[in-house]
Parts: sequence; structure tokens; C-alpha cells
Amino acid sequence: MDDMITPPTVPDAQGRFGPYGGRYVPETLMHALRQLAEQYDAARSDPEFQKQLDYYFEHYVGRPSPLYFAERLTKEAGGARIFLKREDLNHTGAHKINNCIGQALLTKRMGKPRIIAETGAGQHGVATATAAALFGFKCQVYMGAEDVRRQKLNVFKMRAMGTDVIPVESGSRTLRDAINEAMRDWMATVENTHYIIGSVVGPHPFPMMVRDFQSVIGKETKKQCHDQIGRLPDVVVACVGGGSNSAGIFYPFVGDASVELVGVEAGGRGSAEGEHASTLTFGKPGVLHGSMSYVLQTADGQTADVHSVSAGLDYPGVGPEHAHWKDTKRVHYTHVNDADALDGFSLCSKLEGILPALETAHAIVEGMRIASQRSHNDVVVICFSGRGDKDCFEVARLLGQEIDD
Ligand SMILES: *Cc1c(COP(=O)(O)O)cnc(C)c1O
Repeated sequence: MDDMITPPTVPDAQGRFGPYGGRYVPETLMHALRQLAEQYDAARSDPEFQKQLDYYFEHYVGRPSPLYFAERLTKEAGGARIFLKREDLNHTGAHKINNCIGQALLTKRMGKPRIIAETGAGQHGVATATAAALFGFKCQVYMGAEDVRRQKLNVFKMRAMGTDVIPVESGSRTLRDAINEAMRDWMATVENTHYIIGSVVGPHPFPMMVRDFQSVIGKETKKQCHDQIGRLPDVVVACVGGGSNSAGIFYPFVGDASVELVGVEAGGRGSAEGEHASTLTFGKPGVLHGSMSYVLQTADGQTADVHSVSAGLDYPGVGPEHAHWKDTKRVHYTHVNDADALDGFSLCSKLEGILPALETAHAIVEGMRIASQRSHNDVVVICFSGRGDKDCFEVARLLGQEIDD
């Protein structure tokens, strides 16, 4: 594909999606972010950069990922035809690698020898470590000490690929503390280090850049729909944590008014504060991690605690472009709870022989609900963001079955 990255209509030059986005960072980082935006702009319009990106997407990641007609899920839902966009078949098992390859190539172009990242459950850390090994960068990943303990397999994978995993002992010893440490590192090392943010969050240009790298998902989907059904789909559904797989599949369809776009957040155990991660349903505009967007907040404006059965959706913020899409009603946002997501995991595994990530299971449940209310002529595409191997221990535990780890 030669049109892998298209120039954005949003954000504006300040990185604003309507009132959202921007750069809420210390002055020391403003210079670095302006420089990054300039270098990304140059890369985006350089055919040689796009050629390299296409090369690694095809030969390393294994793109294009299939758009697969899920016949038995379709029969079960009893309505519209359901297609799955198989990001689980990418190298490393999810969509996150698309962004990491893109940013690693940009790092190479900028001539920086070192990459840092932060990770919660470890999925973004593994994707970053993979890209770092591929291109020979020194790589350090910050991870809350509590998460290091809970995610032994991902920590092992990162270390096996030569990445230095740094346990963060401060605060709650989880993702938010790891983000603070990564920011502190970057402020001191920005001359020789690139910070790979893992979703469409953070200060400009990250939300735009990550969306652009992930929009390969939507571009392929559009072409595959054209080839397989001869038209656009009726509905596209994706789960929303920070919002990168959803932004990636939605973005190329934003201008197609006939295509309904549905984002699915984590409904957790209920609507009480701390029991869910439905930022766009229960959050309010605020600043988190360097940009303005919807944020889950307590009554006195502190960032609220969150919960989800899936670690990748367990985030109190959301990308600023999603906030803009919500306010302009271009995308409809809803949520699916833990118990239903767990049922979706089992159903998809049994009917299709494909174990979905628990994040993905949220999108499957909503996609089936929508399909059940529509005619068989309609087509619902679900972004199958990742495979479920990583979640087997957690699902077994929740189902009361013991497997050793
Ligand atoms: C990380 C992750 C997500 C959530 O992140 P987004 O940025 O919202 O896409 C969803 N699915 C899988 C499989 C993930 O690993």
C-alpha cells in the first residue's frame, strides 16, 4: 500500500482535536515535542520512510492481517454478518506492534540510539522490546514493581530480547508511577532517547502519530471490504483502552457517513467510581499525561481508580481524538462489563477456535449485540485487537480452574 499514512485534517498545528489534545508538559519537554513533530512531519511525507514502514509491516509483522468472515459467531448472533479484522495474527499477537515499528523507524531516522517506554500489563513493553531488538536500540522499560510481580512472562520476554526492565517502587507501584519515571528519564535524556508511547494518548504529536501508524488497520479493512463484499461495512466496532486499535480502524472511515463507528470501553463490575474504566461515559474533561481529554475523576478532581478484567483497558484516560469524536457524535461509545466479556471470551473460543484477548472480548460482545439487531444483509466488522494466550491464567482463575504458572 502506498498510501499508508495520509495527512491529518485534525489535529491543528497545536495538536488540538476541537478543545482536546495539546501539550500540557514542563518547558523542558516542549522543545523535544516540537522537534519530534517536525521530524515526524518530514518522515510522513518522505516516500522512502513509507517504503520502509510497508516493508516491515509486510515481512516482519505479517501484514495485511486477514479480514475473516466469522460464520458461526454470525449464526449465533442471528442477524448481520460478522467479520473479524485479525490483528491477533500479527507478530507478537496484537496491534501494538504496528505503532512500535513506526516509532522505532522514526527513532532510527532521528539518529537516536536509545528507546524508553512504560508498560502496565507488559504488552506495550513486549512490543517495544521487539522493535528495539529488530533495529538494535538500547531499550529500557519502566514497569511498576507490583506489575513486574504479576506479569512474569512478559518481563521474561522483554529481558530475553535484551531490554532492561526497571521496576518502579514508588507510589502504588503500578502504571501511573511507571509513567512518571519514564517522563523523568525522557526530560534528562531527550537528546539521545525516544520515548515510545503505546496508545493515542500523551502530548502532541503522539495521539496523531500513533493513530497514523495504527490506521493501517482501517485502510486494509476498507480495501478488504471492497474486495470481499463489494462495499463499505455498515458498522465497525472496537474496544477502547487508551484508544489506539479503535482509532486505527475508525480513522479511515471517519469521512464515510454511512459507516457507524462504535467504541467499547470496560464496564468492569459496575458504574460506581473505581469499579470500571468507562472514561467516555463517566469521565469529565481534564488533563492527564500531557493532554486534555476525558478523564475519570473523583469529586475533588483527582484521577480516579479504575478496574477492568482486562489489563489493557484499565486506564483512567482516553485519547483526545476520541473525546472529539464523542462530542461531535461521529463515534458512539458504550461499555461491556467483566462478566459479559468473560462470556464473550468463551463463546468466541468455542465457536471460532480463536481465543480472543480479554480486551478484544469486549468488542466481540458488543459486535454480536449489534449484529443481532440487524438484517443478514448488513455487515459488522469487529477489530480483533489481540489473541488471548496472555489471558489464559486470569480466565482460568476467574472460572475457578487452576493452571500452574
Ligand atoms: C493494549 C491492548 C488494547 C487496548 O489499547 P488501545 O490503545 O485502546 O488499543 C486492546 N486490545 C489488546 C489486545 C491490547 O493488547
